[in-house]
Order: sequence, then structure tokens, then C-alpha cells
Amino acid sequence: MSAVPDRPLVPEWLVAPRDANELVASVWPESATRDAEGALHIGGIGVAELRERFGTPLYVLDEDGVRARARRVRAAFEAAAARHGIQARVYYASKAFLSTAVVRWVTEEGLAVDVATGGELAVALAGGAEPARIGLHGNNKSRAELERAVEIGVGTIVIDSVIEIERVAEIAAARGLVGDTAQKVLIRVNTGVHAETHDFLATAHEDQKFGFALTDAPAVARRIRELPSLHLAGVHCHIGSQIFGTSGFAESAARLVDLYADLRAGGELAVLNLGGGFGIAYTSVDTPTAIEDLADGIVDAVARECAARDVPLPSLAFEPGRSIVGRAGVTLYEVGTVKPVRASEDVTRLYVSVDGGMSDNARPALYGAQYSARIASRTSAAAPALSRVVGRHCESGDIVVDAEYLPGDVAPGDLLAVPATGAYCFSLASNYNYVPRPPVVAVAGGTARVIVRGETIDDLLARDAGIPTPTEDTE
Ligand SMILES: *Cc1c(COP(=O)(O)O)cnc(C)c1O
Repeated sequence: MSAVPDRPLVPEWLVAPRDANELVASVWPESATRDAEGALHIGGIGVAELRERFGTPLYVLDEDGVRARARRVRAAFEAAAARHGIQARVYYASKAFLSTAVVRWVTEEGLAVDVATGGELAVALAGGAEPARIGLHGNNKSRAELERAVEIGVGTIVIDSVIEIERVAEIAAARGLVGDTAQKVLIRVNTGVHAETHDFLATAHEDQKFGFALTDAPAVARRIRELPSLHLAGVHCHIGSQIFGTSGFAESAARLVDLYADLRAGGELAVLNLGGGFGIAYTSVDTPTAIEDLADGIVDAVARECAARDVPLPSLAFEPGRSIVGRAGVTLYEVGTVKPVRASEDVTRLYVSVDGGMSDNARPALYGAQYSARIASRTSAAAPALSRVVGRHCESGDIVVDAEYLPGDVAPGDLLAVPATGAYCFSLASNYNYVPRPPVVAVAGGTARVIVRGETIDDLLARDAGIPTPTEDTE
């Protein structure tokens, strides 16, 4: 990995805050507060206690935050669908953050679960997800993964290539699935709409690995319908991630409904799955659309398009990941070193090194993702200083928070908290530099418990097959 690509020394959007201690409501869990001494509490637990019991770095996940968000997202889509007399099912896209505890929370809140590998499937099952309410995705599911999925009775399998049609059909046929028990499948299509963050782009052509071109989908549907071990339940698309606004979804829905209307000529088609990708706030300048407005906008667009083509509305499905868990997560680090670096003639920034980095949050290095940060162990009256929070890894691109104003007296021993780390941080974590992955602690109602234990040096050594096993002394 190379150094950070060229960008302005200070991002245009970053404004010096009046108060560099403020917890900006949109990016922190709802339960985040500061106590009388200024220390951060999440889920009713203070950061000093969290550090003492679990060490740093530490992923903290606000259970009530995840549950409340799951309920709210589900209610939003169900209500939007009910207004048109149809049903909506919300799958939790588990790749955002997956552990058995989280599976339990979201399934208790009525969500189905989406997985993309045999590993994710195993965790979803271990967490008690009902097989019939699991969806399996992926562009290269192995035969073993598909066999396992069919064996446990996974609800839907999303077909991603022609080769996979035959593969799934064969596996389902070998299990005697036919008629009512035929394996339900969806066809993944590219609608040509790509939404990245605040904008979307609609193209006629696709050059990426997922799904089928819209123009190829009818032949795919015909083939699936010829196979007695498969049941074509619907079509699926997912236009991207961290999307703001409804226009990208509406454009994609219009194209998908065209296909849906077309495919209905060859038989029933029960479901349109519109994927996930609903954006969250990572910094104070992000203003994501309220999920209720998104749900209404998307469902209304589908209804409009169906009316225009005079086809009945299908059931709808959605797959939010980030928007369920993102804001419920906070990563706690301890500051190890602080040094001012002259970035240019007139820009000096504090490099604040913490005890984690790209191994626990790969998103800044991977996508140039922006985050914010606060000193968590105290408040400070020191003037805000332009800062960059960096990790401990051997890469100059090992950045946790690219640009933020922290109190200028930030010092070794301070606890630093980075909010909005609930999605795609734990799940993308690595052991780079043989740094053990941090534990995940769930906080709720003043209690904290480990839901995924941290790795130890023994864990790191355990996979190395080259270590001589101690043999008894023989003389
Ligand atoms: C990643 C993914 C999602 C979830 O995306 P979020 O941005 O986390 O909501 C949903 N569906 C599919 C197919 C995905 O690959």
C-alpha cells in the first residue's frame, strides 16, 4: 500500500469547532454522554471502566443502539410497503458486522439475515437465525458452501452467473428438491446505476463482477424456470454503499421494474430485492436522509413504475448493513505519542498515534473514508488543533482519522474515541504487523460484556506450523 493520494492539506468540509469536546449527535450512539468530569459514557458505562476491564484498542457496540435502529429500519420499510398493500422484508447484511450476539439482536428485532460465505452462514446459524430467513449472496460461492446452504434449507440463493444456475440446480436436485420444495433463487442484475456516497451515476454498460446485465436476465430466467429443482422467486440488485438520497434507488428501481414486468410474462415473480447501501453520518457534515424518507421514496418509486407498466406490485426486500450497526459502534484507543508536523509553510498538524490503526479500521486506507474523533477520558479547554489520528502500523497510509480538530493538549495516556465504527471495521480487521485483533464489548443499561474476545499472542502463534514442538529431553 502506498502513501495517501494527493488531497488538500485540510479538507474543505472540515471546520474548526467551537468546542472540540462536543459529541455531535448524528455520529455518536444515542447513549453517548459525558459525565460531570467530562469522561465519555456509552450504554451507561464510563470509558475508564471499559479501559480497565477490557484494555485498548476496544470495539464498543451499543446494543440498544443496534436494536433500536433495526426496529426503526424495519418499521420504515414495512410501513412504506403497507401503504401500497404489499409486504417488505428487511435482511440484515451481516458482512457489516457479524457475531452471534448481533445475529440474536437483529433477529429478535424481526430482521432476516443476509450472508455471502460459508463462514458468515455458520455464524448466522450459530446465532440462531432461522434458515428460511437467510439469504445467500456472492459471485463465487463454492460447491461446499452451496451444498451446506441447500442442506440447511436457506431461504433464497442469489444467482450471480450462468455457471451457478446449473451448480445450484444440481445440488438441489441431488437433495430431491422439486415443486413446493424447489430451492428459491433470485437473479442478481446490474441496473447500471452506481451510487457512491452523495452522487449516483447511471450507465448503459457495466464492467464489474457482480450479477447479470439487464439484457441477459430474461435468458437466465428462462433457464432457471426450466429446472425443476429451482424456483425463480425474483430479481435482486444492490447499487452501492453509503448512499445519500433516493434518486439512485429510484432510477435503479425503474430499470428493475422494467425487467420485472418483462419476466412476469414467463411466470409469477414474487420478490424485488433492492439491496442495501443506506448512508450514515461519519462526520458532522454528513446529513443522511432519514430512513423513513428513504423507505417511502424507494417504495413509492417502485409503485409508480409498476403502475406505469400496469403490473401488480411484488413483495419487496431490502438489505441494510451499515445503517443498522454503523452508528452503534465506537472504537476506543489510547494515545501513545503526539507530534506536530509541518505539512506546509502554513499548515502544522498534530499526528496523534494510537494503539490500533488500519488493522482494526481499514476503511480510511481502503477507501479514503473520513471519520471524526474526540478525547474520551476528559474534556479540555485547550484551543482546537488540526490533527490526524494515525495507527501503529508500518504504512504512512495507516490513518484512522484523516482530519479532525482535537484539543491542542491531547497527550499520551488520553483515551481517544472514534465514533461510527460499528460497520465494516471489525469485519475488515486484519492481523497486519501481527497486531492481535481487539475484543468487541457490548454495552447496554450500565453493563458491559465481551461478545467477541480479543486475540492474544498465543492466537497469533497458533496457526504457525513452523514452530518446533517441544520434545522431551532424551539422553
Ligand atoms: C454489502 C451489501 C449490502 C449492505 O450494504 P450496506 O451499505 O452495508 O447497507 C447489501 N446487499 C449486498 C448484496 C451487499 O453486497
